[in-house]
Amino acid sequence: METIGHWINGRRVPGTSGRFADVWNPHTGEVQAQVALASAAEVDAAVAAAAAAQPKWGATNPQKRGRVMMEMVRLLNRDMEKLAEVLSREHGKTLPDARGDIQRGLEVIEFCIGAPQMLKGEFTDSAGPGIDMYSMRQPLGVAAGITPFNFPAMIPLWKMGPALSCGNAFILKPSERDPTVPLMLAELFQEAGLPDGVLQVVNGDKEAVDAILDHPGIAAVGFVGSTPIAHYIYSRGCAAGKRVQCFGGAKNHMIIMPDADLDQAADALVGAGYGAAGERCMAISVAVPVGDRTADALIERLIPRIEKLKVGPYTAGADVDYGPVVTPAAKANILRLVESGIREGAKLVVDGRNFSLQGYEKGFFVGPHLFDHVKPTMEIYRTEIFGPVLSTVRAQSYEEALALAMDHEYGNGTAIFTRDGDTARDFANRVNVGMVGINVPIPVPLAYHTFGGWKKSGFGDLNQHGPDAFRFYTRTKTVTARWPSGIKEGAAFNFKAMD
Ligand code: NAD
Repeated sequence: METIGHWINGRRVPGTSGRFADVWNPHTGEVQAQVALASAAEVDAAVAAAAAAQPKWGATNPQKRGRVMMEMVRLLNRDMEKLAEVLSREHGKTLPDARGDIQRGLEVIEFCIGAPQMLKGEFTDSAGPGIDMYSMRQPLGVAAGITPFNFPAMIPLWKMGPALSCGNAFILKPSERDPTVPLMLAELFQEAGLPDGVLQVVNGDKEAVDAILDHPGIAAVGFVGSTPIAHYIYSRGCAAGKRVQCFGGAKNHMIIMPDADLDQAADALVGAGYGAAGERCMAISVAVPVGDRTADALIERLIPRIEKLKVGPYTAGADVDYGPVVTPAAKANILRLVESGIREGAKLVVDGRNFSLQGYEKGFFVGPHLFDHVKPTMEIYRTEIFGPVLSTVRAQSYEEALALAMDHEYGNGTAIFTRDGDTARDFANRVNVGMVGINVPIPVPLAYHTFGGWKKSGFGDLNQHGPDAFRFYTRTKTVTARWPSGIKEGAAFNFKAMD
């Protein structure tokens, strides 16, 4: 069986810890590879290689670093199909969705070509007599990223691109569930001209993560994954004196106003709720129709659309809507939560529990589920299910719908469907959620804006990609300089206004 190791100092190296995890083929239910789980000593070796390579890379002019990004964009486009195929096979998403995963990462690398513009700093001429003042954005040194299984190309690229173009060396610890694409990305960066040692990929689990969090040679950690782990990493990383940003789980509400175009809303809900089998942090998992008439009309439109969904393997072609979930544990957890919804009194109006696909009976496919009459106290409402399960919570007014989104502990994304500009504007202004869609179900900001949730969906001050990424991966140094050096002022004992 194939074993997957690490990428250290510009080459693939096998794991030495003797510990491995299974990598599944979610379509067949078979183990297709074993991934090495790094020990603290292997993390140490990665940090040593990164620390040795960083000074030269950090001193490379930013435009040259930008050219590496430009070449990386070309290589990602060249290898798009190859990467998408591997990604689908390990993750389970359809080929068009795998291409989208790569594309949305590639767009951040495109944005990074312009890093020199973001790194220019600030300058004040003649801030005082013969005094100029300027700020520089300098790399942090060695930064690390810990990423989830659900976007194995996009999220690693969101981290690698900005960290590297700011002049840092970078260590990626990708998800152990789909580790192949991140290693391929490292190889492509090398081909694009990135010097050896500047980027490492260390596979692993908690042991590797803890070694990263405690390592004195790592200055910053960026994490994306579930909220309990985000909170853990934020606390432990900050306690170790690092700069840390962590993006966590979600429960994204879509509010459907009585004046909305209900066919448009139903189409949007089906794509946003069931695309990628619901394994997206920006998936819509709660529909909130306002008023029972809206709710009845919406459910009536949703049922036939959901019953028509084609669930299948990525190899079955373009008309497959979504594939299997990632592991047997993920499937079992989704089905457990469906049972809990039934037990707590929600009405299961589309039941996917008995779904089975001929020829793929052992795969981790989950049929689509739709719940109506879900109450905020139920586990299926409070918990992130991360599967093809949409919950409908009926609200009697706009204020009640808004309060639902506001009161939920997660605040990643949300959307409102309405034809009324006043309501849409009010919603965008008041809702305490980081990313808001107006008649757009999955409002993922593009590369030149920033991405990040509020409340328990995000820990730390700065968002991912866009201008915030360049702030996160650099630190500011401000210089006050007097020239000519001969100006004499005598000893100054008091602070005073600048002349
Ligand atoms: P996860 O939290 O299980 O794993 C994420 C990373 O943390 C992986 O690299 C994993 O190896 C590591 N990890 C897992 N357990 C750990 C532990 N006990 N100690 C230290 N490290 C540990 O998340 P996942 O299942 O891979 O991804 C799905 C989750 O990610 C969902 O909650 C989803 O909402 C979230 N997500 C959030 C965003 C966002 O931007 N907010 C984006 C994508 C996914």
